[in-house]
Amino acid sequence: MTDPSRQPVPPPRSRGSIALLEANCTSCMLCARECPDWCIEIDSHTEAVPAGTERGRARQHHVLDRFAIDFGLCMWCGICIEVCPFDALFWSPELVPSAADPVDLIAERDVLGELLAGVPLPEVLHPGAVPMTEQSRS
Ligand code: SF4
Ligand code: SF4
Repeated sequence: MTDPSRQPVPPPRSRGSIALLEANCTSCMLCARECPDWCIEIDSHTEAVPAGTERGRARQHHVLDRFAIDFGLCMWCGICIEVCPFDALFWSPELVPSAADPVDLIAERDVLGELLAGVPLPEVLHPGAVPMTEQSRS
């Protein structure tokens, strides 16, 4: 068995796995549609947002119910991260643990959120995006 202390430490920007910053995700489905392996599953529902003013109109917004990536199918191409218009997906240096059952390679939103802990803090690219801070990781 390999001594874990002798395992190489991956560089901070390495492609170990994919992390999700849920606060930025609008359930737009772009990442799921562009993924060449169809390994992203997203479920959401819409909720009404009442008008903010007397003459305003009520709106609808998407609420995320499920976000999962099947790392058994993923080929680490990075397309999902590139196409996300809201900076909700990031490369994490955390490696995906091996599993005997392929089902265990499906990472749900809570696991994808925990992977943020290893992501180096990025610059905010869009003024409307929620910046990823130490607080939003927890
Ligand atoms: S890295 Fe590529 S294959 Fe993996 S989930 Fe993203 S788009 Fe799909
Ligand atoms: S592209 Fe980004 S915002 Fe849209 S569903 Fe995927 S992670 Fe969420």
